[in-house]
Amino acid sequence: MPPHYMGKSMQIDELIRTEIANKQNDLITLRRRLHAMPELAFQETKTAALIAQRLRAAGLKVEEGVGRTGVVAVLEGAAPHPGRAWTRNKQAQGGHAPDDSPNGPTLLVRADIDGLPIHELTGLPFASSLGTMHACGHDGHITMALGAAETLAKLKSHIKGRIVFAFQPAEEVVQGALAMFDDGLLKKHQPDRVIGLHLWNQMPAGKVFVNRGTVFASADAFRLTITGKGGHGALPHLSVDPVVASAHVMSAVQTVISREVPPNEMGVVTFGQVHGGSAPNVIADNVTLEGTIRAYKPEIRQRIFEAVPRIAQGIASGLRCEAKFDHLYGSPPVINNPEVAMWVAQHAAAVVGEENVGEHEPVSVGDDMAEFLNRVPGCYFLLGAGKPNAAPHHNARFDFEESCLPTGTEIFVRAALDYLQ
Ligand SMILES: [Zn+2]
Ligand SMILES: [Zn+2]
Repeated sequence: MPPHYMGKSMQIDELIRTEIANKQNDLITLRRRLHAMPELAFQETKTAALIAQRLRAAGLKVEEGVGRTGVVAVLEGAAPHPGRAWTRNKQAQGGHAPDDSPNGPTLLVRADIDGLPIHELTGLPFASSLGTMHACGHDGHITMALGAAETLAKLKSHIKGRIVFAFQPAEEVVQGALAMFDDGLLKKHQPDRVIGLHLWNQMPAGKVFVNRGTVFASADAFRLTITGKGGHGALPHLSVDPVVASAHVMSAVQTVISREVPPNEMGVVTFGQVHGGSAPNVIADNVTLEGTIRAYKPEIRQRIFEAVPRIAQGIASGLRCEAKFDHLYGSPPVINNPEVAMWVAQHAAAVVGEENVGEHEPVSVGDDMAEFLNRVPGCYFLLGAGKPNAAPHHNARFDFEESCLPTGTEIFVRAALDYLQ
């Protein structure tokens, strides 16, 4: 089925094309400005101020400080919908979701805004000199969502319903989405659908990947504290050595993947940090191990979560130590709703051509877009942004092809206009 607006109005189609074409330079300028000013998770105050200022200038209703440093903006369609209040009341009484209401639903567009603690080495004229870096492409995400907001604001006489733009902080520590929910984002705006994108420079620019299922893995950080009894390195029998116990724990925990996760499922347990001890001849009191857990399926994630503390505690206690497991933070796997994905794929095809839209293998990185998708039917798509010999995401030499900026912006605009017709 073609997008709704297409048969109805070639004029809107033309309008979108013109608006996006006129916006290309502005998108690149904005991206470069953002690229030079990356801010870490929950510290994105200047970024948020810039976003808020642009959104206000475009006539949107803006709320700052949502989820500490997030920004929310609402674009009301110009066509009034008396049915909307009715639908909300119905829903409050446990009625049907408003998606099928004639009054126009609410679409949420989510973009993450934080940078990383990386010293940039790209040598780009607009490189960050702050010791922080947009090495994941979130400068591009902000640019495309802002570009879409500004474009849609100009086209609001064609919009029936509302679009909520959520500029989410702290994605890199997968805590920003929940922080925004704690501040009432979903309760207040009750979105019916959510969409977002991640640009991906390991895939060619001009391609769009829309998965009907899993996109990214779950991503959880944990800490194991192995406690023994410190003492003299020459008198181990008078101590309980947590360093030796930690070595056995780390080794044994690897069997979670090789012996407990089914061979055809994906799971990762990585210990990224080991801290313990103070001198070669001193037995430490305790050792802390920190690591990450990844899985594509909630049930596999659950299984690993159950197994890691069990094995750690069993091994530690056999060696007279204690092991304490703490879940530091995390987010579930990013899984798209198949219907929303098919709908987004249609609009991607309208922008880059059907032959350039496909699915991709799930990637074992995480993203707290998962928290949105767990609560609202939605789709997170990957936008090809590859440059020749590009360094990967989170690398100090990371960069992406800026021609993806109008592409992503246009997909947001088309999807929103279609959904809110
Ligand atoms: Zn990242
Ligand atoms: Zn990212």
